[in-house]
Amino acid sequence: MAKKNLKLFAQAKKYLVGGVDSPVRSFKSTGTAPLLIKKGKGAKIYDYDEKSYIDYVLSFGALILGHSHLAVIKAVKKAINSGFSFSTTNRTEIELAKTIIQAVPFIEQIRFVNSGTEAVMGALRLARGYTARDKILKFSHSFHGSADYLLVQAGSGLATLNIATSAGVPKDFIKHTLIAPYGDSKTVEKIFKKYGSQIAAVIVEPAGGNYGVISPEINFLKSLRKITREYNALLVFDEVITGFRFHFGTAAQKLGITPDIICLGKIIGGGLPIGAFGAKSKIMRHLAPLGKVYQASTFSGNPVVMQAGLSTLKILKELDYEQPKKLTEFLVGRLKKEVAYGKVNLTISHYANMFSLQFKNNQQFRSFYKFMLEQGVYFAPSEFEANFISFAHSKKDIEKTLDAARRFFL
Ligand code: PMP
Repeated sequence: MAKKNLKLFAQAKKYLVGGVDSPVRSFKSTGTAPLLIKKGKGAKIYDYDEKSYIDYVLSFGALILGHSHLAVIKAVKKAINSGFSFSTTNRTEIELAKTIIQAVPFIEQIRFVNSGTEAVMGALRLARGYTARDKILKFSHSFHGSADYLLVQAGSGLATLNIATSAGVPKDFIKHTLIAPYGDSKTVEKIFKKYGSQIAAVIVEPAGGNYGVISPEINFLKSLRKITREYNALLVFDEVITGFRFHFGTAAQKLGITPDIICLGKIIGGGLPIGAFGAKSKIMRHLAPLGKVYQASTFSGNPVVMQAGLSTLKILKELDYEQPKKLTEFLVGRLKKEVAYGKVNLTISHYANMFSLQFKNNQQFRSFYKFMLEQGVYFAPSEFEANFISFAHSKKDIEKTLDAARRFFL
């Protein structure tokens, strides 16, 4: 890694824990010094030595249009010129809520928050308040943000660092978190038989993005819908990654399954910090100020963030999702056929415009990762994290990526 980046990272380590503000950014499992990024444009990002990288991380999935889309910049600049934050309701917030609800008709009302973590926390508190029950069922290796009671067998960041449950989380805080293996309807049934009357909600990612990419298992998701109805528990879809990723709406709609609460984040903020959860009004009205479930924040619905989200969704609505999907199929298909398989023990999974690369041997992952980074290709710095292809990626980017991979594998 070039000079300026290394120097800056040395400084970062002095003032920030591990030099980062979120663990996966440390690139710990790659054995490589982490990237420090100065700017981005389209599908490319640039470090402090001006080296460019084709970006398949895209702020962990937040940037479906790629970096620095001009129309989004223009809209955000305009919003900034009117002030940064008022902590009152604003017109853009109403418009973004309307846009999302029109695209996701099974929700009638929404609450904006500042992150996916907060969205899930709000959704689950609401589910608990609405049902007057305490228990939550989640699946092993699913990551739903960093709330205490969800940091049990959570994927991605914790899996990368081989942490089952975070230190600092009292046992009492997780005693209401039930866990079943992902895809295992039989265990879900057993758990419901035992605790059914105490379960407020089942939370699941309809397509998995935190333990490698996992394609939706429609029968499993249907079984969750059925059993939650049977026991009057709520079904919460965590669509922080998948919302507006596969079409202009949620994965739930694509799969024909209607959850009770949906959590959103990432894409709907156009790259600025956001989260949201929505449901039918009969559920949402249990939230304060109408109801007794408290949820609040200074920056929720921030006008600059709302504008980044609204302008992103306006652009997204006119785009053809087949484009990033086809590019993903092209990249994954070629990688499987020509480059990777047979040479190393590598599992390539993909769904629509997401893919993941999981090596059997961590040393191989490390050498591959380092090589690709040197060639100017930035993949997710953990095998458990998903990679994404945006509307800004071109066939040329994919060809360049394949050429680099060929050089490694041949
Ligand atoms: N849910 C899922 C499915 C996620 O992937 C993430 C983050 N990657 C979160 C929730 C938490 O979102 P945030 O990082 O914005 O808090």
